[in-house]
Amino acid sequence: MRRLVIDNGAVLTCDGEDRYLARGRIVVRGGRIAQVMDSPDGRADVPGAPPGGVADEDCDRVDAGGCIIIPGLVNCHTHLWLSLLRGALDDLTLFPWLRRLGPLTNELSDAEVLRATYFGIAESLLSGTTCLCECCRYAPDVSAQVAAALGCRLVVGGMPPTELFGAPLPHDYGHLVARTRRALDIPGGDRGLISVWMGAHSVYNCSADFLQDAKRAADMHDCDFYIHLAECRDEVDVIRERYGRTPVQYAADLGLLDRRTVAVHCVWLTDDDIRLFRRTGARMAHCPVSNAKLGSGVAPVTRYRAAGITVGLGTDSMVSNNTLSMFQEMRFAVLIQRAVRQDVALTASDALRMATIEAARTLGLEREIGSIESGKQADLVLLRSTRPGPVTKERALSDVVYAAQRDEIEAVYVAGERVVSRGRLTRLADTERWERIRGERPLE
Ligand SMILES: [Zn+2]
Repeated sequence: MRRLVIDNGAVLTCDGEDRYLARGRIVVRGGRIAQVMDSPDGRADVPGAPPGGVADEDCDRVDAGGCIIIPGLVNCHTHLWLSLLRGALDDLTLFPWLRRLGPLTNELSDAEVLRATYFGIAESLLSGTTCLCECCRYAPDVSAQVAAALGCRLVVGGMPPTELFGAPLPHDYGHLVARTRRALDIPGGDRGLISVWMGAHSVYNCSADFLQDAKRAADMHDCDFYIHLAECRDEVDVIRERYGRTPVQYAADLGLLDRRTVAVHCVWLTDDDIRLFRRTGARMAHCPVSNAKLGSGVAPVTRYRAAGITVGLGTDSMVSNNTLSMFQEMRFAVLIQRAVRQDVALTASDALRMATIEAARTLGLEREIGSIESGKQADLVLLRSTRPGPVTKERALSDVVYAAQRDEIEAVYVAGERVVSRGRLTRLADTERWERIRGERPLE
C-alpha cells in the first residue's frame, strides 16, 4: 500500500494526553499511523525520506488545511440487519416494541440480511463511523462479507433470543457460532477488519441454561460476550418477579459478568449493581437516543464513568434510533444528561472519547483503533471546517460534538484507505455487483 501523508489539519488525537495539533501531519504506512506531529510550515518532508522530499509516485499527499481530523468513530452497538425496518415501529416502549418486532424478524434470508447490512454500513461510513459492533440474530458471516467489501471495520457476533416473553423461539446456537467463526475467513477480512464475539439477547428473553451455554461458548472461543441488560423498568420488574433480584445481580449470579463481557444499555442500575460492574470489570455500551426513543430512561452515565467503568457509545438499530449517526449520538449523550438530570459533568471531550478511544476499549480494540497515534490503524475522519472564526482545540471539539453534520465530511479512511470521498463510497466502482446487493438486480 502507498504511503499517505495528511498535512495541515487540526487534529484531535483522543490519545492518552488528549493532544491537539493545530496544524498536524499524519504519516501512514501499510495502513497504520507511522507518525503524528506538528507540521508548522506544512511543507516538511516525510520523515525518513531522502532530502528534497518524496516523489509523488511513492506517496499520496493530502492537504487537509481547513479540516478538523478525528479518529474514525466507533459504534458500540447496532443491529444493521434491521435497517430495512426503519420507521416501522416508532411510537412504542421497549416490551410492546419487541412484541411487534418479533413477527417481522423471525425469518430472514441471507439476501435480506445482506441488503439491510449494506444500507447500514453505507450510512455508517458516510457519517464517519469506521468500526461497528454488529449484533446479529442471523448470518454474521454475511454481515462481515458486506463490511469487508465496503472497507468497514466490523466486530460481529450473534445474540439470539430463545423466547419472546414466554413463547419459545426456534434457534440453533451451534449453527450461529459456526457462522460467526466463518466471518473471520471471508475475503478482505484478513486485513484485520473483522473480529467476532458471542452473546445472548437478554436475561428476560433467554433461559438461564442458554445464557450460561452462550457465555461458555464465548469463553471457549476466547471471545467477548455481549448481552442487553437493565434496559428498561419493565425488565427490572420482570426479573425481580421471576428471580427476586436485579437484572445485573441475576446476570452476575449466572456467571455472565466478567472482564470479557459487554452489557448494552444499562439504564436502571442500583448502587450495588454499579459496584458489581466495577468489581467484575464488565464494560458497557451506552445508547442514549434509543433509550430515549423507546421511553426506557436516561442512564446515569457520569456515575458509571466516575466509578471507573468503561463506557462506549452506540446508536442501536435504525428501528429505535433512526439513524446510525455517531455525531447525533455524541450530541444527544451530552444534551440529555443536561436536560433531564441537570448534570453538566459530561463534556464534549467526554462524548468524543466515548465515541472513539473509550468505544474502542469497550470493544477490546483499544490497541488497534480509537485514537490518532503511532502504531494504530489509520482510521480517520476529515471534516471541513466551514464556520467562521479561528479553530482552537475547544472550538474543534465543540464543532465536532455540537454542530457537525454528515455533509461536512471530506474523507473517511479505514486502515489508510480512503473509503469515503465527499459523500461517495469509493468501493462502489463495481456498480453491477452493488445493484445486486441493493436488490435492483437479482442476486446470482
Ligand atoms: Zn440492541
